[in-house]
Amino acid sequence: MIIGVPKESYPGEGRVALVPAVIPNLAKAGFQVVVETGAGELAGYPNATYVDKGAKILPDRATVFAAADIVVQVLGYSSNEVAGKADLPLLRRGQVLIAFLQPLGSAEVLQQIARTGVTSFAVELMPRTTRAQSMDALSSMATISGYKAVLVAADALPRIFPMMTTAAGTITPARVLIIGVGVAGLQAIATARRLGAVVSAYDLRPAVKEQVQSLGGRFVELPIEAKNAQDARGYGTAQDEAFYAKQRELLGRVIAESDVVITTAVVPGKKAPVLVTAEMVKGMAPGSVIFDLAAERGGNCELTRPGETVIEHGVTIIGRTNVAAEVPYHASQMYARNLTSFLLNLVKDGKMRPSAEDDIIRETMLTRDGEIVNARVREFLALPALAAQGTT
Ligand code: NAD
Repeated sequence: MIIGVPKESYPGEGRVALVPAVIPNLAKAGFQVVVETGAGELAGYPNATYVDKGAKILPDRATVFAAADIVVQVLGYSSNEVAGKADLPLLRRGQVLIAFLQPLGSAEVLQQIARTGVTSFAVELMPRTTRAQSMDALSSMATISGYKAVLVAADALPRIFPMMTTAAGTITPARVLIIGVGVAGLQAIATARRLGAVVSAYDLRPAVKEQVQSLGGRFVELPIEAKNAQDARGYGTAQDEAFYAKQRELLGRVIAESDVVITTAVVPGKKAPVLVTAEMVKGMAPGSVIFDLAAERGGNCELTRPGETVIEHGVTIIGRTNVAAEVPYHASQMYARNLTSFLLNLVKDGKMRPSAEDDIIRETMLTRDGEIVNARVREFLALPALAAQGTT
């Protein structure tokens, strides 16, 4: 089976779906890898490094799609509406596509992908089980984003993070608040602590308290309790507007005392809740920084402009999106390892395993034979359930 790695086409995207280091492992399992020329260039993997590991470089995108039984991408069309549409005519019936495909995004775009007949897998749908952990690309990218957000915020802050006792006096440490303690939030806590900040963190899931404390952070306890704070997959759940209003009221004071606020609070398939209002921004000291990692989902801060950095009331509000792409070398390495684990589980003896056999395959399969076949996605899009789903 041939795996094709096209160059990413989203503007500014530096990542690549496979890095040279994973190619020998794939070759051992019987895969050949073809790579579009220059696909790894921006991530620090020139053509020659792929050739050294046994991959073949092809001169253009169309040739890679034509040669590949399996196409692997970081951002597939549905995650890349800017330039991804050009890939639709290159996909064919029975071909496999694995990528970030925003399965809870636009129904129309997902239908367009389905109509190509491609068998697509959305990495976002990976079950959060121990067996699937090595394939969990969302966690990999969240780890990178949480780390990078702290560095960018530290750079934008007119203060330093650590406490310093110098001949010129004592400098107090920066106070960093993390709102939303999933994978990105935990990495942000760890990174801010390493830089010497005093770190507090809040999440509506009380279960994370111990994790925050084990990283040396203070868990902010608010006197409100979320109903069913965590769903069966471990995600935070959506709450009603009254809950969010109360949260904002209680968070106001903690935010006003913080030099840096990093927000990561999201709920799958929903717009991110607004937890930091314009009024709260006004209450922060001038020079403070908010990095809104929920920007691409609408933002946790009322004043965030997705994709931009703005200064409001003297506070720098960073709404950068696609943050993992800013660390392309390691983001690609982690993603490539996630994909390799997934591929080695998906294909046995040169054939795709039936989805009924394996929850990882069944839960990530998005489209097949012209239809959206994923039960969770069909329910989300209010499409009728498919009778024979998951049995082939
Ligand atoms: P996420 O990106 O979906 O959300 C980030 C955080 O925002 C979550 O912790 C969520 O509780 C929080 N949040 C949502 N609404 C909020 C609100 N109104 N106020 C405050 N916080 C709010 O989360 P994630 O990084 O995908 O992680 C979700 C969970 O899954 C975590 O418990 C994580 O440890 C777990 N996880 C498990 C596995 C595994 O078992 N294989 C892998 C990865 C993550």
